[in-house]
This record gives sequence, structure tokens and C-alpha cells, in this order.
Amino acid sequence: MTGNHARVQAVQQITNRAPMQCGDAPKLDEIWATNVFNISKMQASLPKNIFKSIKKTITAGEKLDPSYADAVATAMRDWAMSKGALYYAHVFYPMTNQTAEKHDGFISVQGDGSAISEFSGKVLVQGEPDGSSFPNGGIRDTFEARGYTAWDVTSPAYVMETDNGVTLCIPTVFVSWTGEALDKKVPLLRSIEAMATAADKVLKLLGHTDVAHVNSGCGCEQEYFLVDSNFAHQRPDLLLAGRTLFGKSPAKGQQFDDHYFGAIPERVQVFMQDVEAQMYKLGIPAKTRHNEVAPGQFEIAPYFEAANVASDHQQLTMTILRNTAKKHGFMCLLHEKPFAGINGSGKHVNWSVGNATQGNLLDPGDSPHENAQFLVFCGAVIRGVHLYGPLMRAAIATASNDHRLGANEAPPAIMSVYLGTQLEEVFSQIKQGSVSDSSHKGVMDLGVPVLPALTKDAGDRNRTSPFAFTGNRFEFRAVGSNQSVSGPLIVLNTMLADSLTWVAEKLEGELAKGLELNTAIITVLKEVMEKHGDVVFGGNGYSEEWHKMAVEERGLKNLPTTADALPYLKDAAVEELFKSTGVLTPVELESRFEVYAEQYILSIEVEANLVVSVAKTMIYPAALEYLSKLSSTISALSGMGITLEKSSAETVASLTNSLVEATDKLAAAVEKEDFASTEEHMQYFATTIRPLMDGVREYADALEAVIPDELWPLPTYQEMLFIK
Ligand code: ADP
Ligand code: MG
Repeated sequence: MTGNHARVQAVQQITNRAPMQCGDAPKLDEIWATNVFNISKMQASLPKNIFKSIKKTITAGEKLDPSYADAVATAMRDWAMSKGALYYAHVFYPMTNQTAEKHDGFISVQGDGSAISEFSGKVLVQGEPDGSSFPNGGIRDTFEARGYTAWDVTSPAYVMETDNGVTLCIPTVFVSWTGEALDKKVPLLRSIEAMATAADKVLKLLGHTDVAHVNSGCGCEQEYFLVDSNFAHQRPDLLLAGRTLFGKSPAKGQQFDDHYFGAIPERVQVFMQDVEAQMYKLGIPAKTRHNEVAPGQFEIAPYFEAANVASDHQQLTMTILRNTAKKHGFMCLLHEKPFAGINGSGKHVNWSVGNATQGNLLDPGDSPHENAQFLVFCGAVIRGVHLYGPLMRAAIATASNDHRLGANEAPPAIMSVYLGTQLEEVFSQIKQGSVSDSSHKGVMDLGVPVLPALTKDAGDRNRTSPFAFTGNRFEFRAVGSNQSVSGPLIVLNTMLADSLTWVAEKLEGELAKGLELNTAIITVLKEVMEKHGDVVFGGNGYSEEWHKMAVEERGLKNLPTTADALPYLKDAAVEELFKSTGVLTPVELESRFEVYAEQYILSIEVEANLVVSVAKTMIYPAALEYLSKLSSTISALSGMGITLEKSSAETVASLTNSLVEATDKLAAAVEKEDFASTEEHMQYFATTIRPLMDGVREYADALEAVIPDELWPLPTYQEMLFIK
């Protein structure tokens, strides 16, 4: 066996590890939602009138009567304590992609020194974490750092079990003392309400009188990598940056396509079952698991839920994946591009809107009326993507996702809509106004026949599109694996709210002119397609031609980096969009730009500093050691009158010199501090720092190819990807 001592030891430990058993799989009905204070537990423990009121808040978005909070708090505490909880936490979602929580005990010490457990409605409803250490983009001055968390009644409380105890967790929003959103949940809830109001208007114009509260639905497919922690702990880059900053491609990568949907390795299967059992207890409907394209890459997807709950559950899923991996001796990598040259990880956000009376509004349905309604909602989405494509790109812009987008294995950084051949045809006919063309009868005549079932046929699924219609929902595929899904959901719901409001006004106008409903619908949709049809694209999104055509002929934006995309948050139209829908004030939006930009710069800065330190303290010494061995061998041999070709020493020496030179250049470049604007600062990191980092890597990887394996300090791609 070769490899340096630490690496050899890691391999030995993995080889000799006793297999973990998953034991008997727990019965679903015995564990499902046992750790959730859900509607049925509330019903069992709350007075009838209070339960009814809470239920209305949860299902219909009605305001909660604050006088009921004490009763709910007591019931919640009793339930949590019966599960072993002594602490509670307000859980919130700051503008980073993280989950944050502050724990407090139920304990209350009495005058006589005794302790009782206490949890009042006031404490349930509002908390005050020290907000000063969370990014706020300048909304709060540090001397006025108070931030408040407030109970989100629509997402159920739960108990989190760890090996070290049980905590009652209460999903909350996080706002500044002046009421500005400091998190991702406030705007998500606002965007759902804005969309619901606009959808209600449109549905009523379409003739419905009974219209239930419209909500947005979301199901996310999460991709991730598992690497044995014996290897991961020897890689400073994986520990601090979540991705490899160095590493020569292995002789075998993913070219055989032999991992995708292959048999799940036993050790991984045990891990997955552990994850799923925890998810079930928390009421998260895990549904699908499989190997992904790259070696060591996997996917988990739950059944879809209401967007707000789905988003909270997605955050929990990421936490469970990370923590459970540790227990099983893995490191779970949620980074979008942990390994160069190997597929990255995304998070497909499946998104729909619907309600209890009309059902899924993005489902074509099987009556002419449902078809017309579907086309209206679908048209509204098309308009939204065309007008706010750059905003969608900005919503998924992070330093890590930039590695994946446009990399010919992931959606391009140009936002377009894929509709499928059949639906694309329907919309192009609407655009041409050939609605009653007899040759298309059965497809187009909305008055009588019905849209044929739009099959989600496998051959028709375009993997190269960032945003695709998949039968009864849109799938936003450009979202990064490490991201909160709230950001993308906020944008989708908000732009739909805006489009539906526009549609409602137009429809009203046409109806007022005396047009019959179906004709009015077609007139409005025709205008949508004339103005916005350019965003519909069914071809190969990876191709050169598309990149050219999209930008030059269709006027779409190609925004390859976060530095290019984030400034769109300051665009006047985007500011107006958020303001008019009430989702974000200009101050809140501006603060988001600042926070995201800072995160972009900081994460590249951390990586750049890591590149410098690994190159200097690990790779350079390995190169010197090899050179010293080579040179003593060469001179010893020459003393014996034997000549050994000097060229290998020369190659290593030249690569080493280049490595040092590139490292010094990078180290100096990171020092630069004077920037005229945040935009300029971001561009500097995108166009100067990143290429300099790649430069160092090029020489380091070339050295890895020539330095003896036993001297190489870092676990290799081959080891990390193939040894489980
Ligand atoms: P794929 O075929 O893209 O691999 P899957 O069927 O594995 O997708 O997962 C698709 C995701 O979409 C699941 O989370 C599923 O629950 C979700 N989904 C299905 N229908 C809807 C809908 N109407 N709205 C939102 N999400 C949905
Ligand atoms: Mg998918």
C-alpha cells in the first residue's frame, strides 16, 4: 500500500471499520411525526375554540388571536416535557443560508429557591436573541442591535432529539426592532400572501366564486456527497471551505456513468435509513433516495409540502444530513462543487401554486375551463421569468454555485423557460393568433375541446434548462445544493404575484370592452407571448449557439458570476417589484444586497487564504522532499559514474518555482483593500482572485502527478471518491 502515513492509516481504519447495522426498520405509523406538535396534537390538547382559531391561522392565513398564546404555550411545553425536553429554542433563518437558534431553559427559580418549569405565551410568541452577530446589511447600528424572533404559527413546533438531550424548537421570523426583515422567512411569508391575493383576483375574474386561500407548494431534491471523515479531516480545504481547492483528477471519474441509480453502497444505505427515520419523526416526508451521477454523490427528496413548511423542513434536512453523516464516519458535503471535473450538486426546487377549491393551478386539468385557467397561470410565470430573469439568477448567486452554473453539466447562467414541445407549440400558436385554426383543433379551441394531457415523458425532459415545466409544476434547477430554498421561492412567488396582478388588470380591461371570457384570455396571453415569448426555449441550454442567440437576438442576460448577478438586486424594476408587492422595502432589499455581496467576498477570501497556506505548508514541502531525494540519488549515482536523467528533477523544480510564484502573486492580490464600491470589490474577486487561485492549483495538481504517492500530504480524489 502506498500513500503517506496518515493516509495509509485512514485507509486501514476504513477497511477495518465494523459495519454499522440499521437494525429493524421502525414502523412508519409508529414514528411518523411523533416529534411534531402538529394539528392533531393541538386538537387533543387545546380547548375547542382555541384550536379552531389556530387552525384557521394555519390553513387560511388568518390573524392569530394573541390572547390564546398562553394556552398554546402551556400545551406545547407539557407535550415537549413529556418527550424529555428541558429547553426550548426559537429557530430562525438569518440572511446567510444557515439555521440559527438560541436555547433557553423552561426553568424558573422561585423566591424560596425551588425551581418550576415555566413557558408563557409571551415567551412563545416573541424572543430576543442577541442579533448583533447576524448579518444585517446596515439596517441596525450596532448600538441598537436588538433583533426579535416571533413565532411562525404556520410552521409546526417540534422537538429535536440529539444524543445530548431534547429541545423544543419553535420556528420563528427574525426582525429588527424597527420591524425590518432580517431573515428569509419574513419575505417568504409576505411573498406567499402577495401571490395569494393576486391569484384570488384572477380566479374570481375567471368566474370562480368559491376561492380558498392560495398557497405555494414546494418539493426539493437535495444532492450531496459523502466522504469518509478519515480522509476529510486531513483536508483543510474540505474542513474550512467545504470543497477541494486542490486535487488531480483520478484515472477513473464518472465517465462510465456506473454510479447513477446504481446499487446504494451498504454503508450509505444504513446512513440514509438513519436520516429518514429522523425525518419521519419530524414529520418530513422523505420519499426518494438514490445514487447520483458522480461517484460518492447521492440524492434525497421529500414529498412536496406548503412552501413555508417545505423551506423549514429543507433546512432541517440539511442539518440532519450533516449531523448523521458524522455519526456514521462520513462528512456530508453540501457544497455545489466539491470536486473539480466531477458533477456538482444542485437542489431542484419544484414549485407550484394551488388551493383547496381549484386544486393545483399549474395543472392543465381535463376540462376546457381548467385548461384556460392553467394557461393563464402558466403565461403569468413566463412573463415573470422574462421580466425578472436576472433577479432569479441573483437569488441563486453564491460563490459556490458559480462553480456549477454554466459548467456544461448544470443549467446555464441564462434564465429561460422550458415548456416541453407540446405546450411550447400551444403558446406559439397563441402568439400567432391562430387560435381557431382548424388544423390545431383539439389543442387550441379553448371554448370546446380540451388540451391533450401534457405528458411528463422522459424523452422530453430537458436537463439543460434552468427552469422547466414538468407536468404540473415548474422545476427551478439552477438552485445550489447548499442554499436555503426560501430565496428562490420568494422570487418565484413575488414575480408571479406581479404577473397575476398585471393579468388581472388586463383581463378586467378586455372584459370591460365586452369581450367574452375566453377571447379576453387569449388576447391577454397573446400579449404575454408577444412581449415575453423570447424567454421560452426548448433547445440545448449548454450549446454555444444558445448562449449567442439568447444574448444577441433575444436580449436575455448571461450572468456567469455572482458579481454580475447581485447588482440586479439594486435594479429599479426589481426594487419596484418588491415594493409594490409589499415583499421587501427598498431598505430591506438594499441590506440583502450588502449581506450577499459580503458573503461572496468573504467566502472567496477564505478560500484564497487557504490556497496560499496549503500550497506553502503542505505542497511546497512535499515537493522539496522529493527534490532532495532526487538530487541525492542523482549525485550519489554520479559518484559511482552512473548518470541518471536530470529531467525529472528539473520538471519538479520548475513546477515548484511556478507554484511559489503563483502563490506569492495570489497572497499579494488578496491584500488589496481599496475599492470604490461593493460592486467593484466583487468583480475583483471574480475576475482577479479566482483566476489566481486556479493558477496555483494548476501547478499543485501538476506536482501531484509527479511526486511519489507516499510523499503526497493530501488524501487524493481517488481515495475520497472511491473508498467507502
Ligand atoms: P425528478 O423526476 O425531477 O427526479 P422526483 O419525482 O424525484 O423528481 O421529485 C420531484 C419533486 O417534486 C418531489 O419532491 C415531489 O414531491 C415534488 N412535486 C411533485 N408535484 C409537485 C407539485 N405539484 N408542486 C410542487 N412540488 C411537487
Ligand atoms: Mg428534478
